[in-house]
Amino acid sequence: MTRTLITGGLVVTAAEEMPADVLIENGTVLALGLPGRHQWAAERVFDASGKYVIPGGVDVHTHMELPFGGTYASDTFETGTRAAAWGGTTTIVDFAVQSKDASLRAGLDAWHAKADGRCAIDYGLHMIMSDVNESTLREMPGLIGEGVTSFKLFMAYPGVFYSDDGQILRAMQQAAETGALIMMHAENGPAIDVLVEQALARGETDPRHHGEVRKALLEAEATHRAVQLARVAGAPLYVVHVSAREALAELAAARDLGLPVFGETCPQYLFLSTDNLAEPDFEGAKYVCSTPLRPKDHQAALWRGLRTDDLQVVSTDHCPFCFKGQKELGRGDFSKIPNGLPGVENRMDLLHQAVVDGHLTRRRWIDIACAAPARMFGLYPRKGTLAPGSDADVVIYDPHATHTLSAATHHMNVDYSAYEGRTVTGRVETVLSRGEVVLDRGHYLGRPGHGAFLPRSTCQYL
Ligand SMILES: [Zn+2]
Repeated sequence: MTRTLITGGLVVTAAEEMPADVLIENGTVLALGLPGRHQWAAERVFDASGKYVIPGGVDVHTHMELPFGGTYASDTFETGTRAAAWGGTTTIVDFAVQSKDASLRAGLDAWHAKADGRCAIDYGLHMIMSDVNESTLREMPGLIGEGVTSFKLFMAYPGVFYSDDGQILRAMQQAAETGALIMMHAENGPAIDVLVEQALARGETDPRHHGEVRKALLEAEATHRAVQLARVAGAPLYVVHVSAREALAELAAARDLGLPVFGETCPQYLFLSTDNLAEPDFEGAKYVCSTPLRPKDHQAALWRGLRTDDLQVVSTDHCPFCFKGQKELGRGDFSKIPNGLPGVENRMDLLHQAVVDGHLTRRRWIDIACAAPARMFGLYPRKGTLAPGSDADVVIYDPHATHTLSAATHHMNVDYSAYEGRTVTGRVETVLSRGEVVLDRGHYLGRPGHGAFLPRSTCQYL
């Protein structure tokens, strides 16, 4: 039996803020107590005076080693989960991918093989369905039984991940029956492909055109359609990476009707914009992701959506590609730039910066980054909060330390930072995963294989 005690910090969860000592035994939180009012002894004591003590971050949208556009996302489960830990995230939910003409089972087995024994922190898996058909629909209940309870569909990327409306409806009907959650990439892919072709024919090949053809209206249209299909099927819906004000308005309207419709956004949509996509000398390629970055004036709507709970979750959609050799595949043709940004290490700090900037309260920071994602994907209260019985995934966070985000100092396996040179206030000091110290004052103490697969229950908002 090992006991760890964290003393003197301000415990912040989605529900409360209170000065409290945290006692950890055998990997779980045993008790929280008023400082000085208990007689707890422990082998290991951390002094968190002047610091926050928060649940480890839960990032429910990452793509380690994702095959995309003829290459692979540059973080492996080993490097990506290590970087996550550096940034105060102690749980990820990544995406297993069904290849066309293969079973969900084969895709899930392949992703288990990639992740097993390599992760520094705990991880779950969603399933990307590339081919909704009789046989894959029949596989869904089995996967749910194994703790893979969420299934991602794409209204974008015809010929790759795309599902048509009939396929989407069938998957949603199956979700309604089984308790699964459908996650939707909501962009009208066939229409976007026409605009891509026309732009390239006009000689518009620079990265900024990626943002221009993937129009906000086509995100909003797909979001609206997804909501209506979910309504017809009687299924809940979770829309991933919402970036456009118009798409958020569709979610808000659905929620005002009382529908079980949820949305996430990502730090890149809150902190970056089409100004970045327009950076000269092909530098804009660093910011190519889908949905795309939007003009700056969309940001205020997203912050507001996070405050009003029209958006419940901030995840990263971490999907890094190196500038050299990977993003460069799209020189002369923006449609060949691999889609994705690094960010798994930066999310907790950027959202804390939003607290400093007055966009969010501290408790809302923990809600959107830890508690809500854990609830949404069936991990609460094991993850996402600090309560007796929760996993001791704990971060001691210094709210006053400043640091500068940079590729020179980050731990993600990618040659650039989307936030290069940005100074943020707040820094992870110590990270525990199930009671084991993964990081302490700049020293990495984690190891591949500590992280375990998390079988998840179904969405806890339903
Ligand atoms: Zn994604």
